Amino acid sequence: MDCIGVVIASRWLTPTIKSIRLELDRSDFCFLPGQSVWPKFERNGKTFSKIYSIASSPSRCPEIELCVSRVGWSSAFIQDLAVGETIAMRGPYGLMTLKQLPHRPRIYIAEGSGIAPLKSHIDWLREAGFRQSLWLVQSNPETPDALPYWEEWRSLSQRWPAFHYLEAVGVLPEVLLTRQGLNLSEFEIDICAVGDRTQQIQDVVLATSARLSQVRTEEFFAF
Ligand SMILES: Cc1cc2nc3c(=O)[nH]c(=O)nc-3n(C[C@H](O)[C@H](O)[C@H](O)COP(=O)(O)OP(=O)(O)OC[C@H]3O[C@@H](n4cnc5c(N)ncnc54)[C@H](O)[C@@H]3O)c2cc1C
Repeated sequence: MDCIGVVIASRWLTPTIKSIRLELDRSDFCFLPGQSVWPKFERNGKTFSKIYSIASSPSRCPEIELCVSRVGWSSAFIQDLAVGETIAMRGPYGLMTLKQLPHRPRIYIAEGSGIAPLKSHIDWLREAGFRQSLWLVQSNPETPDALPYWEEWRSLSQRWPAFHYLEAVGVLPEVLLTRQGLNLSEFEIDICAVGDRTQQIQDVVLATSARLSQVRTEEFFAF
């Protein structure tokens, strides 16, 4: 579906990562937790597109939230949109989704803006009353002491007994996770990070009792 998003809020989550909330002009836009949109850009007379995960729950439609790390031209363009400015986009896309309430406990491992699709999952699971154990292990290589949404996650872990939040500061998230002594064969595990880090985290997880069939990954890269 093609639609236009108008920026309704934009705030820094860390020194390099911003949350951008957009109101879409299509009230029939819907997506599954974990899916993405393709904003359209124009530069030097050329039109092109890049993909960004939706960080909010589908229940917020037609409002969506993006969580964007400032690395190059396109990400800076989205971050610099002022409230009231618009951007065209197409979507939704993506396969690391939730179609129904899962039956098994879950682990999410996020690095940097890789938190975006996992936040959509967690927000939706919370709303849907997910009762199984749910772990979020988070790190941010860009600014290790500043984790996106950390206040929300700390607060959520106080209010939602199933939710466990591990802040990986000064330690790799996969190392912090394996130190917990959890039996990873009991969990479904979703990983989202930038570039090769996704595979590296998966390799460590698979060196435990977890099997490949339990693990899904999404890799953020530029193309
Ligand atoms: C399925 C998918 C979902 C994505 N979702 C998001 C998202 O929710 N938020 C987001 O910020 N980006 C996301 N990306 C990356 C995004 O599509 C762009 O590639 C990114 O913003 C870089 O574009 P650019 O023009 O700003 O910089 P470019 O000049 O194209 O890239 C500069 C460098 O940044 C690296 N890079 C790319 N993405 C990131 C990142 N997120 N963090 C750190 N370094 C990066 C690239 O490897 C490249 O070396 C996603 C990518 C994929 C494949």
